[in-house]
Amino acid sequence: MALRQLLIYSGAAVLARHLSLFSLPVKTLRDVSALILIVVLTTLVSAAVAIFVLKYLASVPSEELLTLFLSYWIGDLGGVLMFMVAATLFIDVYEGHHVYRGDVFERRVVWPLMLLLLIALTVAVYFMVTGVEGMVGRVGYLILLPVAWAATVYGMRFALLTSLIVNLSAVSVYLLLDLDNYPVVDFQLLFVVTVIMALILGASLEEREQARFDASHDPLTRVMNRRAFFNYGNALFERARRHNRDLALLMVDLDYFKLVNDTWGHKSGDQVLMAVAECCRHACRQTDLHARLGGEEFVLLLDDADAEQSAVVAERLREAIEKVIVPLTSHTLTASIGISQLNQATRSLEDMLSQADKALYAAKADGRNNYKVFSKLAST
Ligand code: GH3
Ligand code: MG
Ligand code: MG
Repeated sequence: MALRQLLIYSGAAVLARHLSLFSLPVKTLRDVSALILIVVLTTLVSAAVAIFVLKYLASVPSEELLTLFLSYWIGDLGGVLMFMVAATLFIDVYEGHHVYRGDVFERRVVWPLMLLLLIALTVAVYFMVTGVEGMVGRVGYLILLPVAWAATVYGMRFALLTSLIVNLSAVSVYLLLDLDNYPVVDFQLLFVVTVIMALILGASLEEREQARFDASHDPLTRVMNRRAFFNYGNALFERARRHNRDLALLMVDLDYFKLVNDTWGHKSGDQVLMAVAECCRHACRQTDLHARLGGEEFVLLLDDADAEQSAVVAERLREAIEKVIVPLTSHTLTASIGISQLNQATRSLEDMLSQADKALYAAKADGRNNYKVFSKLAST
């Protein structure tokens, strides 16, 4: 029977890859649906082959065949899904994949892991208390609740981990309680349902998160785009003005960037932009904003930063960008920066932006690779 599974599953896997029925890592609802359909169909075929062999080679009586068919099918389905879940989680951790930014494995993991432990303990206690023969079928589906919760709050990977832990803790309690009465098919069916639910709910959450991320971020550098910058920036601006807090805006423009594209190609230019975006990210604190305004222009909005602090950040950023190397060359590049501060006369974020733009223009005129502050322009 192991040979049957090996041949049928390998054949299905090769066919699915050949026809590109889904892409890896699995993250969209479409991929998940295709995967579930493939696994269900493949295990159906595998169970049918097993029954065919039993009927014609082992002469098993017909009335037993349906029960056997269902137990083969559910058993195979449970086994394949269990393997898939373990492999997916292993590959993700090993390769450091994150399905979308904000994935639970990228954030702080202590709380989700504590919750997992709590769920596992609750399930174990629950099954110990209700660990009576026949109860699994009736109340065991309560297992679905933590999985649904995990999928809708933390996404697919975490839901898969939850389904694995929930099922393993339930199974281990049953194994500990009574080996003979261990309802294998009930548990396998329960496992199948929890994993499929984790996949579907998790993928739909991730698709929504991804769409939200794509709408507010630049696809190349993955920093905020212009629209998101104005959304969050206006809120930060209003807060700073209401509470009389300092606020500084830094406008960054790469010097002679066209030359990079013209000399080493657009691809090198793109990589430089990604490295510069990383420099901007490093220059910011958690409460600051940074975004790509367009082309080779970046903007930083520094919360609670006075003139002195913003000059320090600008100088540090200028030095960091000076160290960025064009890929596969020894060529470096520089940036010019314009700074504006929130003051009594500033009416809007656009005001700050246009003042920083003027300061940036002055920095370019003064030989580039430096920073200028708007408030000091008039006096010089
Ligand atoms: P200056 O020092 O005066 O700023 O000179 P510059 O060459 O940097 O300025 P200019 O505005 O003339 O050139 C900007 C260049 O940025 C032109 C365009 O090819 C390039 N650019 C804009 N967007 C992208 C992008 O997404 N990828 C790449 N590789 N280049 C881009
Ligand atoms: Mg420019
Ligand atoms: Mg430029």
